[in-house]
Amino acid sequence: MGKQANALFWLKRICMLICMQVETFPIGMLSTNCYVASSPETKEAIVIDPGLDFSSEAKPIFDYIDTGKLTVKFIVNTHGHDDHIKGDALFREKYDVPICIHPLDAHYIAGIENPKFPANVLLEDGGALKFGIETLKVLHTPGHSRGSICLVGEKIVFTGDTLFAGGIGRTDFEGGSMTDMRASLKKLMGLPLNLLVYPGHGESSIIVEEKRSNPFLSSRNDSMLF
Ligand SMILES: [Zn+2]
Ligand SMILES: [Zn+2]
Repeated sequence: MGKQANALFWLKRICMLICMQVETFPIGMLSTNCYVASSPETKEAIVIDPGLDFSSEAKPIFDYIDTGKLTVKFIVNTHGHDDHIKGDALFREKYDVPICIHPLDAHYIAGIENPKFPANVLLEDGGALKFGIETLKVLHTPGHSRGSICLVGEKIVFTGDTLFAGGIGRTDFEGGSMTDMRASLKKLMGLPLNLLVYPGHGESSIIVEEKRSNPFLSSRNDSMLF
């Protein structure tokens, strides 16, 4: 490991130690990252993007929540694509808590075959999600979909399919826009350099590392992932 990579590794480790508890569950055919973020002090938690393909995939997540004696407060979707929302109903049935999404992507939840539960809380830009002593601010980042959001904490940002480690989300789906994506990435690059990045797919990263090495942040390359 080179000196710079080593320094980034340790910066990432330190950030992980001092921020809210985050557990990652890659689920479904597209390996969507479902996150359980919790406040160690109060054990209150949120579930982000439970995009299950099969209900059996929920078991390790339920077990993690049970074992940690966590109280789930919200189900949150970074955007409305199937691979992020398909397990919403299952989690809603189990925990009876609101499903939260940006208003411009709420129709995806209503559009699921036989929707049992519509979105309950609409997350507008500048809004906040509070659980325990933790707060995540809502940053509207359209481009991958009209209602894509990132959730920004003191030491952490959940970026959904807007920003990945070394990549960005596709903009060629319905509601996608490369112009919007560029503006959204600019917003993300204005965040503190030491924020941990938890994307909708793939490995975690850190803002400074993406600024340094993500080819999509320095060029106008339009080939994308996911
Ligand atoms: Zn997506
Ligand atoms: Zn996705």
